[in-house]
Amino acid sequence: MSDDLFMKIINREIPADIVYETDEVLAFRDIAPKAPTHILVIPKVHLRTVNDLESAHTELIGKLVLAATDLARQEGIAKEGYRLVMNCNPAGGQLVYHIHLHLLGGRQMRGLG
Ligand code: AMP
Repeated sequence: MSDDLFMKIINREIPADIVYETDEVLAFRDIAPKAPTHILVIPKVHLRTVNDLESAHTELIGKLVLAATDLARQEGIAKEGYRLVMNCNPAGGQLVYHIHLHLLGGRQMRGLG
């Protein structure tokens, strides 16, 4: 867990542009944004990948998604649309091993095909 970069943000050991916080969820702006709005929504508990999720995390995952939809409204991109992404492991493009939901918007997204 000591190599968990996002836990360091939760613990205020490294700075971040935090935009949302509850007892269980934190959201902050991505340091290298891929869209005009690029926010990462994370749980405050250490979970390396979505493969580690169990039924006990169902409510927590719902809270991540609802935080993201609230933030999309706050950012003014809810109506035009946005993308929510969770990457898993190397083939999925995951770089930081603390699960996170990307909220991306403010530009036209290309299709996945
Ligand atoms: P992923 O490839 O899904 O693991 O995405 C990790 C994301 O974390 C990338 O978009 C990075 O730009 C972002 N990131 C890495 N370090 C930081 C940081 N210190 N503060 C904010 N975002 C970060």
